[in-house]
Amino acid sequence: MAALGHRVLRAVEEIVREEMTAAGAQEVLLPVVQPLELWERSGRSDDYGPLMFRLRDRKDTAFALAPTAEEVITATVAADLSSYRDLPVNLFQIGWKYRDELRPRFGLLRTREFLMKDAYSFDADVDGLRVTYQKMYDAYHRVFERCGLTFRPVEAQAGEIGGDVNHEFMAVAAVGEDAFVWCRSCDYAANVEAARRRASPTDGADTPPMPDTSGVPEPEIVDTPDMPGIDAVATHLHEPPDALLKTMAFRMESEEGDAGVGLALVPGDRDLNEFALAAALAPRKVALFGEDDFAANPALPVGFLGPHAEGVDLVVADPGVATRTEWVSGANETDHHVRHLAPGRDFTIHTWAEIATVSTGDGCPRCDGELSVDRGIEVGHTFQLGTKYSEALDARYLDESGESHPMVMGCYGIGLSRIVAAVVEEHHDDDGMVWPADLAPYDVHLVALPGKGDTAAAVSTAADRLYAALGDRGLSVLYDDRDARPGVKFADADLVGMPVQLTLGAKGLERGVVERKIRAGGERDEVAIDDVDALATPPGAKAT
Ligand SMILES: [Zn+2]
Repeated sequence: MAALGHRVLRAVEEIVREEMTAAGAQEVLLPVVQPLELWERSGRSDDYGPLMFRLRDRKDTAFALAPTAEEVITATVAADLSSYRDLPVNLFQIGWKYRDELRPRFGLLRTREFLMKDAYSFDADVDGLRVTYQKMYDAYHRVFERCGLTFRPVEAQAGEIGGDVNHEFMAVAAVGEDAFVWCRSCDYAANVEAARRRASPTDGADTPPMPDTSGVPEPEIVDTPDMPGIDAVATHLHEPPDALLKTMAFRMESEEGDAGVGLALVPGDRDLNEFALAAALAPRKVALFGEDDFAANPALPVGFLGPHAEGVDLVVADPGVATRTEWVSGANETDHHVRHLAPGRDFTIHTWAEIATVSTGDGCPRCDGELSVDRGIEVGHTFQLGTKYSEALDARYLDESGESHPMVMGCYGIGLSRIVAAVVEEHHDDDGMVWPADLAPYDVHLVALPGKGDTAAAVSTAADRLYAALGDRGLSVLYDDRDARPGVKFADADLVGMPVQLTLGAKGLERGVVERKIRAGGERDEVAIDDVDALATPPGAKAT
C-alpha cells in the first residue's frame, strides 16, 4: 500500500508541475539546510520559534531545516537579478519541508515533514504582482479540479494580515482541521468568522418589524436546577432549542474610555459570532465576560442570563430575535429560567445586527443556493506579500531611469500530501478507494482467475499476454496473479480502487472475453480478449 500511495503522490506532483509550468513558473531546487542568519534578517527566526528545527555545523554556524523558503529564494534572487529587464520572475520547487510540531499527527495532515510545492514571484510593481497572482490563482483552480477535489478559495480576513490579499484553498473533508462556510451552487466561501448568510427582508432596517406579542401570557419563572446549557433546558421544558434565547454578557469600552456592560442575543440554535459583534459595535472595544466579570456583576449569573437583566447599558440582538413572539431565557437568577418572555414587551433591544453564526442550510448571500458549514483541509495558500522580504533581504532592481526599488513579491504554497489526504476523503466508498483517473496509482487492475482445472495454465498464459499487451498500449497495470480465492481478489481490487478492473477466468477465456468493471459506478460489461485497443482505452482510464 505504501507503494500505491507513492504513485499517487507522484501523480499529484506531475499535475502540480504541469500547471505551474503552464502558468509561467520555472522549477528550481532550493537548499533544505538554510543559514539561520537569513531568518534573523527577516525577523522570522523569532516568529517561528520552536516550530523550526535548528542545527549547527562543526564551525558552530546556525542553520534551520526549511519550514518554507521566502528568505532563501529572496536572497538568491537578490544575488542574481538586478534590472527591471529581469522581471517578472516566478520560481517554484517541489520538496520536503520541516516543522517541529508540538503535537504531530499520524497520517498526512500535520506531520514533522511534508511534501510541498512552494512558488515565489518577483515583480517590478504591484500591478505586475496582481497579474502574476491571478495566473497562479487560476492555476490553483486547475490543479485542484484535476485532482477531483471539491474546494473553494477562501479570502482571508482583511486586517488579520495587514491588508494584503491572501487566499486559502479549502478542500471539503470531514477529517479537516478548520470549519469553513461554502455555497454548493456558486463560488462563495468564507471562514466561519467572516461568513454572511443571505439577508432577510428585515435586514438593513434599523429595527426589524416587531412581532405582535399581545397574545403572549405573562412571563413565568421555572426551576431549572443545574441546567446552565440550552440543550438541557430545552429537554427539561419540552421546547425546541430554537425557542430558547441565548444571552451573552460582554464588557465594552468607548474610544473615550467609558466602560459599560452589554448583552448579545441570538436564537438558541445558533452561536454568537464574536467577530460580527465586535464589528457591529466598533469603534467601541468588546470583550465577552470572563470569570472575574461574572464575579463582579452578581446581577448577571453565569449560565442563567436573560435579556431583561438590570444594570445593563446596551442590548444587541440578531434579527432572528424578532422572528418569535416569545422566548425561553435565563431568569437572571441561578437555577431558574423564564418562559413567555416577549421581545419589546418584557425586554428592550437597543441595537440590531447580524451577530449569529451561519449554519448549514442558510441562504447564500450571492445566489439562490444554500450554504454548507463543513470541515476542510487547507490544500493551498496564496499570498500577495509585497516588499516585506525584498526590503529585509535587499532584493532590489534598477528601473529604466536607474532608480532602485524593492521587488514586489507573491508566494504560493500547495501541500501535496494534504491533497492526497483530501482526495482519499472525497473519493472512497464502503469498499475502499475510488481513485479519480488522473491520480490512480494504476490505470487498470487485472485479475487472473486460473482456478484449479485443466484450463488453469491456458488462463494464466492468456492473462500474462493481456498484461503485456496493455503495457504495450501505454497503460499502467496492477496485475493480481496471486494464488488466492476470487472473493479475496475482488475485495482487494475494490479496496485499492483502480478506475478499471479486468477479470479473466476459464469461462471467459472459453468465450474469448474479459469481464470489465468500472470501479466508480460498478458497471460491468464484457470485452473481446483480442480487442486490446478497446481494453486499452477503457472509459474512465487515462491515456498515457
Ligand atoms: Zn451561492
